[in-house]
Amino acid sequence: MRAILVAPLVLVSLVHSGTGSAAECPPDALGVTRTIVVDPREHTRIGALQYKETLPLNDKEVVLTFDDGPVPRHTGSVLETLAAECTKATFFMVGQMANSYPAMVRRVYDEGHTIANHSQTHPFTFNRMSLPQAAAQIEGAFASLRAALGEGKAVAPFFRIPGLLRQDSVEHYLAAHGVMTWSLDVVADDWTHIGADEIARRAISRLEARGKGVLLLHDIHEKTALALPVILKELKARGFKIVHVVPATPDRPKTMTQPEQWAAHTSSDHQLWPRVSGLDFGSTAISLAAPHLRNLGVVDPSGKTLEVSLARRFARGSLQRGGVPLPPIPPWPRQVYFAPTQVSSLPAPAEENFRYSRVFEIPPPDRTAAVAQKRTASTASQASKPRVLNRPAAPFTSQSGVHTGVRAASPPRLFGHQL
Ligand SMILES: [Zn+2]
Repeated sequence: MRAILVAPLVLVSLVHSGTGSAAECPPDALGVTRTIVVDPREHTRIGALQYKETLPLNDKEVVLTFDDGPVPRHTGSVLETLAAECTKATFFMVGQMANSYPAMVRRVYDEGHTIANHSQTHPFTFNRMSLPQAAAQIEGAFASLRAALGEGKAVAPFFRIPGLLRQDSVEHYLAAHGVMTWSLDVVADDWTHIGADEIARRAISRLEARGKGVLLLHDIHEKTALALPVILKELKARGFKIVHVVPATPDRPKTMTQPEQWAAHTSSDHQLWPRVSGLDFGSTAISLAAPHLRNLGVVDPSGKTLEVSLARRFARGSLQRGGVPLPPIPPWPRQVYFAPTQVSSLPAPAEENFRYSRVFEIPPPDRTAAVAQKRTASTASQASKPRVLNRPAAPFTSQSGVHTGVRAASPPRLFGHQL
């Protein structure tokens, strides 16, 4: 009798924990801050990595996406982690995988996540396949996902191209069929040979650097499943919030937004450097905006002081004939050490940094002799010109015949700038 009573209680408990219902959410759960309802016909392509638009997220808002599944073991683990934090994600599933594991497709749906399309067989040829081939991949996966879900359960009209290998014709096809093409804002490189700790570290540090974004993960890897609890814990600790995205339907109107909220890149995102600046060299307190570490190829500033070389060290090969020797130490920029979170400006270069204060030129020996002899001849007798004067005139002798005098008195000849 006791066993008969307990069984239904266990079942109820499993269902509730699986759905992550609000009643069972711990008070400090990450949860879902808001749900964005998007209309794919209005915004056909999103993701800052490739497109001009991305989802209209506020600062510190993150959209979780999982590609390539479902795989029962790891997708199940991901679902449990998401449920423990009562939060929601979008799963871009492969049709073939859905055919193999339809129950897992239904479980993902039943637990409140968005089911989206990641092609039928995940070919890495979307950038060069014909449109009929692409259409077969897209429609085939929609059919597989719908078959797995059954009647009355909708697949979102969201498509992520395998490998992000886009081409115009495919995107036009998707847009014409009311399907939104999803790229992404932030990756955690979980398809590469890195472990769970590093996946979590990259996800967090890149979201911190961008401030918000659509995060790509893959629910087919054990290490991603292991990284997810850490990622969610860190997001929570750092004040990030999770946003769930669903498509608009006749009875679910789109979230009202302004066009600029969809802009993937604001001017401050670009962090272009150096910029053209008006400089007053007469001032002693000039400074320039420091480059963002991204300008220096550092994708992932960890907040520690980094050694950053603002310019390549000059190669100091042997001089060619007539070449200009480089200064022993580059006047500017030099190798500097700075903590990216603390330094926002650097001293501006001085005026002399933009040209050589003195031009070094090593003329060929015979030419030196010719010039010397010509000078001697011009001050002595015009009648007894040495034979060497038949050589071309030295470059710093005026063609008008008026000698310009000692070369050091002339302004330095610029050979271009050093930077
Ligand atoms: Zn994929």
